Amino acid sequence: MMNHIASDTTSKTWQEQLSTAVSHPSELLATLGLSDNLLAGALRGDAEFKTRVPFSYISRMEFGNANDPLLKQVLPVDNETLDVSGFTMDPLAEQSSNPSDGVIHKYKGRLLLIVSGACAINCRFCFRRHFPYGDNQLGGESWQQAIDYIKAQTDIHEVILSGGDPLATSDKRLKKLIQELSEIQHLKTIRIHTRLPIVIPDRVTDELLSWLTSTRLKPVMVIHCNHANEIDDAVHSALQKLKKAGVTLLNQTVLLKGINDDAEALSELSHKLFQADVLPYYLHLLDKVKGAAHFDVNTQKAQEIMRELMAQCPGYLVPKLVREVAGEPGKTSISV
Ligand code: SF4
Repeated sequence: MMNHIASDTTSKTWQEQLSTAVSHPSELLATLGLSDNLLAGALRGDAEFKTRVPFSYISRMEFGNANDPLLKQVLPVDNETLDVSGFTMDPLAEQSSNPSDGVIHKYKGRLLLIVSGACAINCRFCFRRHFPYGDNQLGGESWQQAIDYIKAQTDIHEVILSGGDPLATSDKRLKKLIQELSEIQHLKTIRIHTRLPIVIPDRVTDELLSWLTSTRLKPVMVIHCNHANEIDDAVHSALQKLKKAGVTLLNQTVLLKGINDDAEALSELSHKLFQADVLPYYLHLLDKVKGAAHFDVNTQKAQEIMRELMAQCPGYLVPKLVREVAGEPGKTSISV
């Protein structure tokens, strides 16, 4: 049986859990009883991209295990400082698909709004680790510009709330955003891309369920879960609450070397997601962002893993293998 640290989150609101997230590598290592030998490399990685991990997520890691698959997603390491050919600051060229602040429009029929620059957690492999969030969020004036832009683009039927993590913002603000979007008649679907129900399951509040399901827009939530150990009882019940409220739930996973790059790990994840009423949607090859090359799994290995996964799972539990290619009008499927 794995030895976990006790979670201190039971009496805290999700906002308190966010504000008390671990933000220094030495605290993360000490909490998990790990050696100080890891600290020098962690500090160099932290200088590139800050450490941020809420306790609710740490509580699912194994005490004393430096190879824990959740820890490896959030502990900065020296390798992040390496310059590796082909790994760049803006691998998806999002900064050139940015018609106004907080708006990314590169897919036909749908558009992405950066609702919040903040995330509950800083995933070391994140393709937006260098994205200029500070310049690119929806505030008062830019929100009105975004609404005007969406109104003028009558072929857009779906708005995707993204970030950062859109659920890092308050329910009050999100309720207002959704109300204004629902008044635009050509919009049909509201999709939310979020990792928060996985990182801090208490984020799934009654208020969230209310604004998300009391609109005429069809609600879809795409969560981001990379490993079966991320789904504990609290996450499971948060996901079931969303499902019972009528939200379509899908998952996207990033294929990560040393974390989930084998068919057994992905099969276990798919089964656990399904038990929580979530369908596997995409398995992404890593976006080639500077600082994340050590997580990269090459295409050939990814295809082999997919073939094994297809042999182990029913079709509805097999995600699509995709990669994002800068300038392409959608995700690029990879045949297996
Ligand atoms: S939660 Fe998503 S956007 Fe935020 S750091 Fe992790 S992968 Fe990136």
